[in-house]
Amino acid sequence: MKVLRWYCPNCDEDKELGVELREQAVRVRGEEMRATVEGLVCPDCQKDIFHPELDGRLQQAALELYRGHHRLLRPEDIRGFRGKYGLSQRALARLLGWGLITIQRYEAGALQDEAHDTVLRQLEEPDFVLSLVERCGARLSEREKKMVGEAVAAAAAGKGKKESGDLWRAAQVWASDRAPTGSPERGFRAFDPERFGQLVLWFAARHGGLFKTKLAKLLWLVDFAHFRRHRISVSGLAYARAPNGPMPDGFLFLLGLLEAQGVVEINEETVGAYQGEVIRSKDFPRADEFSPEERDTLERVDGRFGAMTASRLSELSHRERAWLGRVDGDLIPYPEADGVDFMERMWD
Ligand SMILES: [Zn+2]
Repeated sequence: MKVLRWYCPNCDEDKELGVELREQAVRVRGEEMRATVEGLVCPDCQKDIFHPELDGRLQQAALELYRGHHRLLRPEDIRGFRGKYGLSQRALARLLGWGLITIQRYEAGALQDEAHDTVLRQLEEPDFVLSLVERCGARLSEREKKMVGEAVAAAAAGKGKKESGDLWRAAQVWASDRAPTGSPERGFRAFDPERFGQLVLWFAARHGGLFKTKLAKLLWLVDFAHFRRHRISVSGLAYARAPNGPMPDGFLFLLGLLEAQGVVEINEETVGAYQGEVIRSKDFPRADEFSPEERDTLERVDGRFGAMTASRLSELSHRERAWLGRVDGDLIPYPEADGVDFMERMWD
């Protein structure tokens, strides 16, 4: 018989106690679970002896049985769902509006209540996660949003083209939540993920790869310059003030979706003296996506600003009132384009 040196409180001495497999009853939420695990028995007084580690195993076995009976997620399932979207415990807690300690406890083996279980179970569905990001994305950092966007898009892409379209539609819903469709913040247009993708491709293909910060400026110039002349934006993107100039709202998240769809590739690279994330096209832009007027705007923006560095473009935008009058994160309504003089000179 296997033995373990331990204390028998009945005999009041340390001695070799027998280790035996035995069925023991544990109550879990009022229900009796009978688990068969190792326990200690004293060879002299024949009493069952408590041992913290063996008792821990008994508790876990009983919880395991209870989870099985009630079809509750196991801690490894919860860790798995979270890992699938690249979310930290903190990010998931923020997204669900729960305390960090709650997620930590569940993953460490504490039994979740059934309502929480129902919510956690839905994490398996990319659409559910995306809807959470739509509603509560402001609680995540841009980097976290980008990671979730990529993971959700990859999960959806793996399930076929149809659902990947659903994902873009969801991205549209998310965008309209930030600034209403057709509002001045979108240049009186609905955000169109397809056009956004084509715009990115157009610049990435033409430049053979360009820095993310530079792309952000060129998109802003295209949309605002086009608006100044034609009173409507090209992409329907909203632009927010960011430390180095106007930035498409949710830029990293939207680029993440494009990358996950295999439209572009984004890598940290060094080009000359500069280092940063470089976007390269993995697809060809479609010639028919844009109207003649829009193509004209694209050519003029690229002709005038395409050769400038990202930091030169930042300096340019920093002189503008549209920029100076707001704080980081504020959306910049398109009519502000009227105050940007160099945009009018583009048509000279
Ligand atoms: Zn004893």
